[in-house]
Amino acid sequence: MLKAVSSVGSILNFAENKEGLDSLIKLRKTTDFYCPSCNGSVVMRLGQKKVWHFAHRAHAPCVDPWEVESSYHLSGKEQLYRWLRNEHADVEVETYLPEPRKRPDLFLKSRNLAIEYQCSSIEEALLQHRSDSYYQSGLDVWWILGKSRLRSKYRFIHSVSSMEWAAVKMINHTPILFYYCPFEKLFSLVVPQYSLTPTKIVCTSQIISLETTSITSLFQPHVTTLSHSHINWIWLKQKRIWRMNPHGEKSYAYFYMRKLLYKKGGTLRLFPSEAGIPSSSNYWIETPAYLWQSWISLVFLQNLRPKSTFTLHHLSNSFKELISRGIIKVRTQSFEEGIELSLRGYLSQLITLSVLKKRGDRYEKIHQPAMHHSVEIALKSDERVLSNLS
Ligand SMILES: [Zn+2]
Repeated sequence: MLKAVSSVGSILNFAENKEGLDSLIKLRKTTDFYCPSCNGSVVMRLGQKKVWHFAHRAHAPCVDPWEVESSYHLSGKEQLYRWLRNEHADVEVETYLPEPRKRPDLFLKSRNLAIEYQCSSIEEALLQHRSDSYYQSGLDVWWILGKSRLRSKYRFIHSVSSMEWAAVKMINHTPILFYYCPFEKLFSLVVPQYSLTPTKIVCTSQIISLETTSITSLFQPHVTTLSHSHINWIWLKQKRIWRMNPHGEKSYAYFYMRKLLYKKGGTLRLFPSEAGIPSSSNYWIETPAYLWQSWISLVFLQNLRPKSTFTLHHLSNSFKELISRGIIKVRTQSFEEGIELSLRGYLSQLITLSVLKKRGDRYEKIHQPAMHHSVEIALKSDERVLSNLS
């Protein structure tokens, strides 16, 4: 922690400290310091490896023991504090909030915003629970992840863990992941575009220097999208993996669909080319697209007579039944709207492919997607279908 209260009641904040080493060493000898959250006794650490800070004594954990304070975390927190202070004089470091009983790294009172700089790995449920505590107290939360967590497989493909999904910030209905590196003093903004597998995510990203931005402009980011040819290339590659090696993931959805297609005389690798395609907001569904889209194409649509119509609500109800049975998985922080956005995104692609036609708020089935007879034919057809998408 960067802040402590002295035995005479004054606050020493290392994020703002102007004292030199000698006078601090003197102060340390003559004064005791206490944690502002739990009043526990703390030790002043004036080493060379880490930013100067206070630490609880080993046997006395705090009321809100949270992030393990690495040097990376302490430096980042200090830099973010100074940066925020340029725009908001009311920013506070490590303020204990009695209402959610939490001590966020930073707190912006004027925006009712708790800011957490998260560098270590924690359970997704813990992170979600912490966010919920803030929401229940009427506060918003902004998670900034340590840049060292950012794992890019290759350009546009990121590995995003479920914990990171829980740290997403929604800005203008767009999920955005924020990372910060205290060495380079850079923010990385990662914007999920499509989910390929539960953790393999197609993203666009942007690097922004701390010194040239403000929280106001960070919260109005210019979100870029990928070119059509890039999207096609990525999805074609992914479809090849699904067809050549469908055993890659052994989820409930995988076994469920494998059994269903087997009954229909096919195998999973011969799924229709109209499934496993990019569609907007598909990232709210954790289950890979080729599985849930095959269910829509081959089960839901198959049960409809030609020319008959259905509504999004109708599809969504059947789909939610699969979710409640644990067959299809959605992102934990996904809201009902997210599932409908994903379904709507896919239906709109099926309209482009002339599988469906829109009639007012209903969808009419025009063409029934079918399984392929061989992987070679399927791969050729995939290429054609992807190039027909807009
Ligand atoms: Zn404490």
